Formats: sequence, structure tokens, C-alpha cells
Amino acid sequence: MRIKYAILVVCLLSFCVNSETADLSLNSTERSALSGDEIDRLLSQTDAIRTSDFVTFTKNLSELSAIKNSFSESQLCFYRFLSAYKLGLSGDVEQSIQQLQVIKEDCEYLSITIRVESLLANIYAISGDYQKALTSLDNILSQIDNVNDQALKLLIYSTAYVVYDLVNQNQLSLDFSQLVIDQKPSPKQWCKASVYKYVALINLNQLGIKETEIAEVLNHCRQQSENIYAQVLNVNWIDYQLKKAESKQETNLIHQSLLASDDSIVATRYKNLIVFKDSLMARILEKLGRYEEAVEFAKKALEGSASLGNSQQKIDALDVLINYHQSTQSYKEANDYLLKKNLAKIRYYSDKQEKLMAYQTIKHDSMAKSHRIDFLNQQNEVLVLEKELAEKSKANQLLLNYLFASIAVLLLYIGYRIKKQQEIYKSLSEMDHMTKIYNRKGMKDYMEHMLPYSQEKEETVAFGIFDLDLFKKINDQYGHTVGDWVIKSIVKACKELNNEKATFARLGGEEFALIMRDSTLNDIAEFAEACRSAINSIETVYETGHQFHISASFGITTTQISGYNFSRLMNDADDALYESKENGRNQVTVYRTAA
Ligand code: GH3
Ligand code: MG
Ligand code: MG
Repeated sequence: MRIKYAILVVCLLSFCVNSETADLSLNSTERSALSGDEIDRLLSQTDAIRTSDFVTFTKNLSELSAIKNSFSESQLCFYRFLSAYKLGLSGDVEQSIQQLQVIKEDCEYLSITIRVESLLANIYAISGDYQKALTSLDNILSQIDNVNDQALKLLIYSTAYVVYDLVNQNQLSLDFSQLVIDQKPSPKQWCKASVYKYVALINLNQLGIKETEIAEVLNHCRQQSENIYAQVLNVNWIDYQLKKAESKQETNLIHQSLLASDDSIVATRYKNLIVFKDSLMARILEKLGRYEEAVEFAKKALEGSASLGNSQQKIDALDVLINYHQSTQSYKEANDYLLKKNLAKIRYYSDKQEKLMAYQTIKHDSMAKSHRIDFLNQQNEVLVLEKELAEKSKANQLLLNYLFASIAVLLLYIGYRIKKQQEIYKSLSEMDHMTKIYNRKGMKDYMEHMLPYSQEKEETVAFGIFDLDLFKKINDQYGHTVGDWVIKSIVKACKELNNEKATFARLGGEEFALIMRDSTLNDIAEFAEACRSAINSIETVYETGHQFHISASFGITTTQISGYNFSRLMNDADDALYESKENGRNQVTVYRTAA
């Protein structure tokens, strides 16, 4: 589903380049007489209209295809890139990705590989494959020092701010858009980078964004006929103001300003934006007490978002509908919308969490990489030093020996330190891939950061461990594949309870931790019980072909009982879990200090 609307957005992203129309209609004599430079020119003309004129672009590509045989190797690479781009644009995203991968293997020209990776990063991010998107981005970012061409540099930075925006890394999106702005880009590029910059500032909830600055960007983008970008910023800005509005008067002004932009927003035909506008309108009208009109817009937003997936705007629209039906005491409708909202929320938040995990994984990988590079540089410096010394003080063999010895020690020490650091980064990035939750190390890191913070804020943290009951039997009787399915299903069952305070971790095998910030013993007891019951009601026949019951035993405690100490929390929860097992399994036990 996401892939479908990817096509529209690919053109909206870093790849929209300013262009004029350039139709290449060649006759056969012209075709055979083309020089290398002319072919270069035709290729870049075709490249230039890639996003603005699809019809001519396609036509040019087939013209070029007829003279493929006279292409040089690099021209052929460029041509293949354009063809893969066309595939993506006409909806065949998977095929396009596949071809781009092959081009990446075959072509070693920096300008091609950067374009290929940028496009891949864009496509992956929009189709929800965040880890791959960030890997591609990481690849081009690490090439930045080898790129001399200003246009290519800007392409890399633009890809970075777009992809970081898509994975909610607002600060990074802000940094890279600022970087583009600082390079004095073309007016169109300035418009796009500025829109991303201010959207990031708004998302970061930065205070002191000036209305005049926003107006400047909006005017500039309109002058450049970049209405979509202007409206993206406009709608985000109105949303930001609505959040801050206190009086009815302010809300009225916001309403006026959205009404004034209504036509321009609809004219973009950009679905996400129109849904954003309708949902915003619903919230404004609700705030103004015009409930019936608010419902109309909320329904429109909901309809529009049907093909778009889950977003904050969809959740907002559902809220308006729930409030309305509750106030008119039509409880059945209220309840239906509430169910829809819960589902949308689960999906929206798990998508958000996936983005964060993907980002962290790639970040730690690349930290490890840059440390390796640092190490190699340091090694190099030492070698240079060694050589200089060897030349200068041949006479003093004794001193030399001594120096070599210390250099060797130094090298060993640096190597050891870097290796240790690499290990740390690597382990940090280790999530449990089977269940997509923290693994033991991930959880430990999380707890060790969070516990002191919670202690300082005097927040109680609730903690639990649970372990599947008689799991060996399930493995023995139905095989490991079914066992793996069970492990995934129990995480799914507990996550679907949609408790925003709960974080899960896989401690190993079939043992899990449950962490609840700012929660009492009562909260975790209730939630663990809900989790236990959900696990116990998992339906197995449909997926595995076997009918059996799954159950788990829980042990729980809180920082009020066990203190803000990670190993004590683990020990105490484990003791309580042991008690659950002793008392017949499939139950929740609270840790008791007396026990
Ligand atoms: P108890 O109720 O006392 O916990 O009984 P149990 O059978 O669950 O005992 P135990 O916890 O000792 O056994 C865990 C088993 O889980 C052993 C191991 O073969 C299996 N296991 C561990 N990790 C995995 C995994 O990733 N996949 C599968 N299929 N099995 C696993
Ligand atoms: Mg077990
Ligand atoms: Mg176990």
C-alpha cells in the first residue's frame, strides 16, 4: 500500500530538479552521426526532465535505447540508471530496486553510484524499509569527501534531509537542510531545503519561529511555482499555531488562514496534504464549538487516509469523531471509532518505533566504522613518525629501539581500545531480530540510562520477567519452527494490548522482560495479568495446524520495592517468577521482600 503512493512522493523528494522540456526526436542519419559529447548532452537533457515531464522523458529514453550500442561504458551506466528510475516512476518499484542493485554492482562511477544510492534511499524510506534506507544514506554520506561536483554534493545533502525527515530524525533533517541552504543553492533547492528546515523546527517544537521567516519561505516557494512545498510548510505552520492557540479569537484567526489556503491545498492533489488539511479543519471547528461541521471534515480526513496508512492526522480525526459521538451519547459509534483509533495508534506507534530502531542500528554500525577509520589514520601517523625518526636518528640506535618498543605498545593499546569500542557499539546495536524488541544488552543499556533519570524525577519504574511454560515440550512435540512462531506470537499478543508505557525485551530463549515507566505495582500487576491472559488465549490451529495451549509465568516488582538498581530488579523479578513456576505456572506473582 505504501509503495503505491511512493511514486508520487519520489518526485516530491530530493530528486525534483529544475528543468526545461527537451524532446529528442532523432532521425536515422542523426542517430548514426552522434559524437560522444552529443550523447552526453542528450543523456543529461533527459535526466533534467526526469521529474517534470514524464511523457517526454519516456520518449527520450526509447530514442536513446536505439543508439545504446554507441554508448561508452559510463554513458551506458547513466542510461541504465535513467531506465531504472523510469521503472520506479511507473509503479514497478520492486523491479526498479532490483535493477538499481545490479547497476550498483556493475558501475563504478562515483556519480552513478551516488545517484543510485540516493534513489534507493528515497524509495526504501517511502516504502517503509527504514533500515535499508538508512544504510543507503550512510553509504553516500561516507562518500561525501570524495565528491567534488557541487550538484552531487547537494543531492547527497538533500537525500539526507528527506530520509531523516521520513524516519522522524528531525534534528538531523534540520542540520542537513541548513547545510544545503548554506551552500547558496538554486532558488528551487532553497525553497525545498527551507521547507524541510522549518518543518523540522516545528516538529522539534522549537520556540521562537518567526512568522516573517515562514512568510518569506512561503512567498519564495510560490514564486518558484513550488506550490506543494509551500503548502506543506503552510499546513504544518497552521497546525503548530493551533497547538499553541489559547483564546477563541486566536483559533478564529487560524481558521481564517486555513480557509484562505483551502483552494491552493486542494490544487496540489497531494493526498497526504489534503488529509492533513481536513483533519486540521476538524480540530479547529471542534475547538470553535462547531461540532457538526467538525464531524464532516473528520470523516473526509478518514476517507482520504484510507489509502495512506496510519498517521497522527488520522488519529486526530478519529478523536474528533469519538468526542462527538460520546457527547451525543451515540455510544455504539463512539465505540466503533475508538476501536479504529486504537488500531491506528498501535500501527502508527509501532511504525515509529521501527524507525527509531532502524536509525539506532545504522548509527551504531557507522560509529563502529568511523572508529575503524580513525584507527587506521592513527596507525598511519605512527608509521610516518617512525619513518621520520629512522631517518633523523640513525646514530642513536639505542634511542630508536626504545622508541620502537613504545610505538609497538602504543599501537597495541590503540588497537585494543578501538576494538573494545567497536564491540560496545556493536552490542548496543543488537536488537532481537526475531521479535523486533530489545535484546538483553539493548535492555540493559536502556535501563541504565533510564533508572537514574526516573530516580531523579521520583518516578516509579515497574519491572517484570516472564518465561514460557513447558516450552521444551512444545519444541519437542511440534518442532522448532512452531516454537519460533510461539515466541513471536506471544510478543505480538502483549504488544497488541497497546500499552504505551510498556517496553519489552527478549532476555534470551523464551524469557522476556517487561519495563513500565512511571507505573505503580498495581499498573504492572494489571498489565501483566492482561498479557498472561492474551498469551493463554492465542489461537494455534490456524497458523500451525496443531491445537495446543500456550502459557507463561510472570514475576513482577517495582523500584519502590527493589530500588533503582538494575540487577536487584532482575533478581527480585526472577525470584517472583520462580514462585509462579513453583505454584503451578500460568500466573503472575509479585515479589515479596519477606519471601
Ligand atoms: P518451564 O515452564 O520450567 O520454563 O519449562 P520450559 O520447558 O520452558 O523450560 P526451559 O525454560 O528450561 O526451556 C526452554 C527451552 O526453550 C529450551 C530451548 O530448547 C528452547 N528455546 C530457547 N530459545 C529458543 C528459540 O529461539 N526457538 C525455539 N524454538 N526454542 C527455543
Ligand atoms: Mg520456560
Ligand atoms: Mg526459560
